[in-house]
Amino acid sequence: MRDALRLLRSYLEYLNLLGVESVPSYPEIRNFLDLDPGIPGTMEDLIREIQRCHRCALHRTRTQAVPGEGPHPCSILLVGEAPGREEDLEGRPFVGRAGELLTRMLSAIGLSRREVYITNVVKCRPPGNRTPEKEEIEACRPYLARQIKLVKPRIILGLGSVAARSLLLTEEPLSRLRGRVHYLEGIPVILTYHPAYLLRNPAAKRLAWEDLQLFKKTLDGMA
Ligand code: SF4
Repeated sequence: MRDALRLLRSYLEYLNLLGVESVPSYPEIRNFLDLDPGIPGTMEDLIREIQRCHRCALHRTRTQAVPGEGPHPCSILLVGEAPGREEDLEGRPFVGRAGELLTRMLSAIGLSRREVYITNVVKCRPPGNRTPEKEEIEACRPYLARQIKLVKPRIILGLGSVAARSLLLTEEPLSRLRGRVHYLEGIPVILTYHPAYLLRNPAAKRLAWEDLQLFKKTLDGMA
């Protein structure tokens, strides 16, 4: 119940930000894609909104927002946690060592970065690369919901526990969520470890490889 109320508050704040002052009835929020009010717009509009966004305290410490990059629409969407120092400076997701590892992970299953859309749950860097706070995740979630609708992915790969919990609206740990296919309004969602975590914990690379195999198998099965 508390989660539903929090989602509703986040949705209403987002509508207010967009200039909508009243809604005819409460929306039925089944998953976080419902946080997008369905107001028409393009990816370019969305990127401009994110770059100007002051919805949470992270706007005060960012160098720039990092909305995401890649072709759109795009069959494959990758969702990470939040920009780090290099991403904050460059304005692009997954650069630096974690980005290099992600590129290698994709290459291992025959994909290049040019074939995927990459974004994060939270679009501005948390100071010191700390984990985003719950309020920051909730403030930013409607952007991801709208981004998913614009990218129209056929499959999603969530990287790390923040992405996993945000996409599935759950508090379950990643260790219990990975290793199987979840669905977000019919879109298969596979979860694995964040490349930055894998750099710190090389022993988890074996599990990440299993997740990538599951991702590839699911993707190939959709062809
Ligand atoms: S993290 Fe998201 S909600 Fe917070 S200021 Fe940046 S774009 Fe806005």
